[in-house]
Amino acid sequence: AHLDRIAAVDGDVHAFLHVDAEAALAQAAESDARRSAGAPASRLDGVPVAVKDVLTTVGMPTTCGSKILEGWLPPYDATVVTRLKQAGLPILGKTNMDEFAMGSSTEHSAYGPTRNPWDLDRIPGGSGGGSAAAVAAFEAPLALGTDTGGSIRQPGAVTGTVGVKPTYGGVSRYGLVAMANSLDQVGPVTRTVLDSALLHELIGGHDPRDSTSVDQPLPALVAAAEQGALGDLTGLRVGVIKELQGEGYQAGVQARFTEAVELLVKAGAEVVEVSCPSFVHALATYYLVMPCEASSNLAKFDAMRYGMRVLPDGVDNPSAEEVMRATRDAGFGDEVKRRIILGTYALSSGYYDAYYGQAQKVRTLISRDFAAAFEQADVLVSPTAPTTAFKLGEKLDDPLAMYLNDLATIPANLAGVPGISLPSGLADEDGLPAGFQVLAPALADDRLYRVGAALE
Ligand code: GLN
Repeated sequence: AHLDRIAAVDGDVHAFLHVDAEAALAQAAESDARRSAGAPASRLDGVPVAVKDVLTTVGMPTTCGSKILEGWLPPYDATVVTRLKQAGLPILGKTNMDEFAMGSSTEHSAYGPTRNPWDLDRIPGGSGGGSAAAVAAFEAPLALGTDTGGSIRQPGAVTGTVGVKPTYGGVSRYGLVAMANSLDQVGPVTRTVLDSALLHELIGGHDPRDSTSVDQPLPALVAAAEQGALGDLTGLRVGVIKELQGEGYQAGVQARFTEAVELLVKAGAEVVEVSCPSFVHALATYYLVMPCEASSNLAKFDAMRYGMRVLPDGVDNPSAEEVMRATRDAGFGDEVKRRIILGTYALSSGYYDAYYGQAQKVRTLISRDFAAAFEQADVLVSPTAPTTAFKLGEKLDDPLAMYLNDLATIPANLAGVPGISLPSGLADEDGLPAGFQVLAPALADDRLYRVGAALE
């Protein structure tokens, strides 16, 4: 049914870069056999899933939305993909994304944009717009995304889906093509909170292949969602982050946010306002730390080891450096080049302390703001994104306007804490979905599911 739905709507939505119907049907047949023998591999055995094209998959290309990796077939599966396969979930295919996960609209994909199923003239968010649109358009019931600065939560908000960024280290990054190692996390994209909890439990937990993986059991996420669904939040302290609302937030988004907070109060939660003064510097900090890490990570695309190789025009016996230059010039898009230049500049000797060093200090201040806020509250809340989905092309030529989408999601990545985006209803001005964000302390991902399910 999902393959039929993909065939019917993906020409318009373009959520997928690659669909493998044959492999998915074979996996589904194996799943049917297991289930009729009464021995399913997991609670999600047989439920199809779509995978963001930044996670390596054996037998399917992995492009990261870039020309430089066109046609590359990885020799190994990401740990999260291995876990999907072991649990019996048929993999439908790979979803579209901004090139190397850089963007908030999926317009920076080298393979053309994904469109928002709510309105095909609008963006589905980014960088994981493909995964969010696939779930919103009923092409897949479940998807995996990755979130470095908001790429699971912001697409969730603008497509009316649920998206979770787990605690840093809670889900393995082995086989995730790194954008910024200290910020990246893999997480679920679904239509319900319980589905996210089920998928999160399945992909999460310790992995010896990821040196930053937390070596302790995950909290009970499904149980937390089931408890939350009873709707009783008595005794829960909720902190509304003062710096993440008001000016700069669309009126309809803010109105749906205020209503969701009222629902929390009705469910018995105690609401306080908390202040996180360093959050106003989060965007600037992120746009130093992230390009620094990305510029270093992307150095491996050198025309020798992976994917594309372009020989420079009119040069006999070109040197390795000439081939590398021609390949990177043709293979990377403008946004990727912009960030490589920013990162390389900020890391250069003479500027390192002033930019990268300073950003790391502000990052510590942001973590301290979280620590202080979590003394006053068990969870923190804000709108997920400042606006609903904007029109394709609207912010493409204005990188700063594009970066502002991540205002409310970035602090969690800088501090490594988990966050969920929930649909909070439709904004009055445009009838488009708005998102409600819940943040919890590191390793307390269960709280996201308790609160999320109570609101659903
Ligand atoms: N939109 C942000 C950026 O462009 C976040 C990307 C992400 O989370 N991968 O960097």
